[in-house]
Amino acid sequence: MVIKFLDLHKINERFRVEFDKKVKEVLDSGWYIHGKQDELFEKHFAEFCGVKHCIGCANGLDALNLIIKGFGFKEGDEIIVPANTYIASILAISENGCTPILVEPDINTYNINPDLIEEKITKNTKAIMVVHLYGQAVRMDKIWQVAKKHGLKIIEDSAQAHGAVYKGKKTGSLGDASGFSFYPGKNLGCLGDGGCVTINDDELAARIRAIANYGSDRKYHHIYKGINSRLDEFQAAFLDVKLSCLNEDNSRRREISKFYRENIKNPKIILPKVYDENAHVWHIFAVRTPKRDEFQKYLADNGIQTIIHYPTPPHKQDAYKEWNELSYPITEEIHNTVLSLPISPVITDEEAARVVEVINEY
Ligand SMILES: *Cc1c(COP(=O)(O)O)cnc(C)c1O
Repeated sequence: MVIKFLDLHKINERFRVEFDKKVKEVLDSGWYIHGKQDELFEKHFAEFCGVKHCIGCANGLDALNLIIKGFGFKEGDEIIVPANTYIASILAISENGCTPILVEPDINTYNINPDLIEEKITKNTKAIMVVHLYGQAVRMDKIWQVAKKHGLKIIEDSAQAHGAVYKGKKTGSLGDASGFSFYPGKNLGCLGDGGCVTINDDELAARIRAIANYGSDRKYHHIYKGINSRLDEFQAAFLDVKLSCLNEDNSRRREISKFYRENIKNPKIILPKVYDENAHVWHIFAVRTPKRDEFQKYLADNGIQTIIHYPTPPHKQDAYKEWNELSYPITEEIHNTVLSLPISPVITDEEAARVVEVINEY
């Protein structure tokens, strides 16, 4: 028996009948972009996050890019971002000519260390981008405080944390604007690429909506040098179907996570820590161990697929040669030791038990 890291076919098979209906509906409508499906999903996802506006776009990277463009940040502006993140968070900043200022994570949460932010603020700092990594909402208290004190915007990268809750509020509503990805493997994923921006401010929402559609506020009338980034009707329709199951799916992920945390008892394995069960939606269940590559091979030999999120930190990538000599020891420690175990809403109790058994025998 092979336990897949993520069985996307099984995840989506649950919705086949409803997907078929939606495909027919969109085909019958003859309308493929910015139509009824998009409008409906945006309304439902805004409600889900507890914000006024949701703007569909082409992917998660575009969502972050659109937010930075919407604020009008440009060359020379600095944006604080965790050193320990998927490269997209940082690319969105560079893409706009802004300077990413890397901050080390907290080794316990893997998220940005709020205590290290203030010392990085200069007269050029414009925003703090938080990343709810692996599905765990960043502890925002200190970040709210620092942002307020220095007049900074807060941008959320919520690509891994659909539905995570911090102090009663969902990700997507914890900052000034938030970017989501609906890449197939995310907790809410479509059957292709998709993303969105969530936002409360009416004016900023209108600006971002225009920028995402060639900078036009109405057809052939261009008020910004925009981009083309839209969520198509098929993807919006699929997402709306799956959104109704997101809370349930996240609960199942929490159940598996709890089972792993209570039953994996191997001193060589460092389990993830949670400060509040509601704050985590377990997009990724990441453990750490010193001999990570050996451990990964052991699991593979025993039929358990795993993935490393991520093998190389952004500052060690060729794309950021200017940073290659810099040292972010906590970030590097995480990248060298981390391994993601199978977790998803469709993992069976038997599979989870097998994962535990194999790890405890390591
Ligand atoms: C997936 C992801 C993105 C990018 O989303 P895409 O839809 O692939 O562009 C951004 N940030 C984080 C943290 C992600 O995990």
